This record gives sequence, C-alpha cells and structure tokens, in this order.
Amino acid sequence: MHEADFWKEEGDKVRCGLCPHLCLIAKGKSGICGVRTNVAGKLMAMTYGKVSSLNIDPIEKKPLYHFKPGENVLSLGSVGCNLGCLHCQNFSISQAGPDSFFLRDVPPEGVPELVRSSGCKGISWTYNEPTMWTEFVIDSGRICKERGIFTTFVTNGYISEEPLRRMKGIVDAMNIDVKGFTEEFYKNVCKAKLAPVLDAVSVAKEIGVHVELTYLIIPGKNDPVGELERFSEWSAGIDVNMPVHFSRFHPDYKMKDVPPTPASTMERACKIAKEKGVRFAYVGNMTSDQESTYCPECGSLAIKRSGFSMRMVNVKDGRCGKCGASLALVL
Ligand code: SF4
Repeated sequence: MHEADFWKEEGDKVRCGLCPHLCLIAKGKSGICGVRTNVAGKLMAMTYGKVSSLNIDPIEKKPLYHFKPGENVLSLGSVGCNLGCLHCQNFSISQAGPDSFFLRDVPPEGVPELVRSSGCKGISWTYNEPTMWTEFVIDSGRICKERGIFTTFVTNGYISEEPLRRMKGIVDAMNIDVKGFTEEFYKNVCKAKLAPVLDAVSVAKEIGVHVELTYLIIPGKNDPVGELERFSEWSAGIDVNMPVHFSRFHPDYKMKDVPPTPASTMERACKIAKEKGVRFAYVGNMTSDQESTYCPECGSLAIKRSGFSMRMVNVKDGRCGKCGASLALVL
C-alpha cells in the first residue's frame, strides 16, 4: 500500500483530486475507481506497483502510428478505471479490485530491468486506465527516462490538470480516447464528462507530449455526421498534425446488443476528418487502405500498415520520400 498524492482532508473524509470525479471518501471506503481508499484518514493508492498484465506489444497496437513506428513496447497494466463505459473491452481488469489474486508486485526501480530484458526500448502503461496508478507511472517513468527508455501512456484522458502536468518530461507519448463528442454520450455511456477530456488533450499537448487520439465509433451512439464533423474540427483546431484513429466497435461487456460498426461508417469518418483538416486520419480494428499513412501534400503512400504490422514504403528522414513534406513522425 502506498500513500497517494493529489488529495486533501475535508472534515473527517478525504478528497481525491486525481481525476475530475473529485471523490469525497469516508474512512474505510474507496472512490468511484475502487482503487484509491481512505485508510485511517489517508488516501492510499492501492494499486501502486501492482501489475495485472505484462506483454510485449507493437506500438501500433496502442495505437500510436507517428511515434517510434515499428518499435515494440513492454506493456504494463494494473486494475481499476475511473470511467464506467458500457462497452469496455478490458472489463475483466478495469472492473477488478486491488485485492485480485493475480496482481504481481513490481517496484518502480524494477521496471527498467523488465524493459531491458524484454528487448524493448520503450514502455507503455496501458490495458486498464493508467491514470489509476499515476504515482507509479511518475516514479517508474522518471527512472525509465534516466535510463533512456521511451514512455507511452494509453488513457481515457479523465485526469485532473495537476497530475497530468506532473508527467511533463516523464511521459513522451499518449494515446487519448475521445469516446464521443457530446456530454450526453459521456454521461449515459461512460458515466463521466466530455469537457475534462478535451482539456486534458490541450494540456498534454502544451507540456510537450506527443498525442494521438482514438475515437471508437459505436453505431447509433456517437456516429452522427455532425458529431464526427465537430470532433474533427476540434481536433484540427488543436493541431492538424495530431493523428486521429477511428476504431471499429465490436459488441462487448454491457453493450452486446449493438452491432459492429459498418465499414462504410468507418471510411466516411476518415473522409470527414480529412475534409475538416486532420492530416492523418486512420481506421482501426478492420482491414482498410485507411490503416496506412499517405502524404498529406502529394498523396503518395508513405507507410503501409496491415493490422499491427507496418512497412516504411517511402519515408526519408521522417518526411515523404516523394515530395519531402513533413509526416509528423517521431522516429
Ligand atoms: S481517481 Fe478514483 S478516487 Fe480519485 S477522484 Fe477519480 S474516481 Fe475518485
């Protein structure tokens, strides 16, 4: 058990400031996420260094397409989440508690050796919501950076400003989910709010993190053309070079009654994004030409992708090999 950061006393309770829920927690109780608990008047981060999942993944699986393309990353996950998405595809760990029998203790100083022995050059905090063990990310990430290991964070973006700013210089890249573009969707489907996620994207960019976005398109829930247009305009307004990944929905968890997203909807979303100024829009969870990177200037194929595999077809020093335009790659 590790004492949390980002909390204060309020009467005989504690207020957690890690995420926008700002839970007020009585003694012996936990916040909405289930992994931050008031123990005798102190807020404890119950999953600090408690690892549920450890795998080597291609970075394309996060998905991160413009940061260290083709690299493998050691992926670490724990348990718990601060959102309650009805369609969660990782519910077995996102909804599990800190007393789960399968958790393995890994101290922060043990993380670089795990990365080194995996043969990877980078790490990804992923699988469950990594905000839940922010203190562990910061402590282990700082050591990783000192040893020249790159760091990535796959998140729902539901994090308060202070802990996010604390990741400056520690987290190199983030994939942030924007799960829909209406407050109604976030309230009904995710049990959260949209606005703090959009703020988090801006702050992450401001502190120098490489950011890519994922938008999972769910038929009948967050797929109206107008919503996709507004999302794309907002994304391009922040940075036209910020990659956007439209991900295909598959029925899961408490949303098994909704069919998979039609391929035509996915392709249309990509087209809308590009029309609205997003220079790098992709589809994922399905086979498509739109998995690949095309030069936004001359249209030639630069990086060919299929699933999680990729091949640089025509890239020179991170730029289009044909016309020399920037592909906004971090190599
Ligand atoms: S991190 Fe957990 S305990 Fe803290 S405010 Fe968010 S949901 Fe509540």
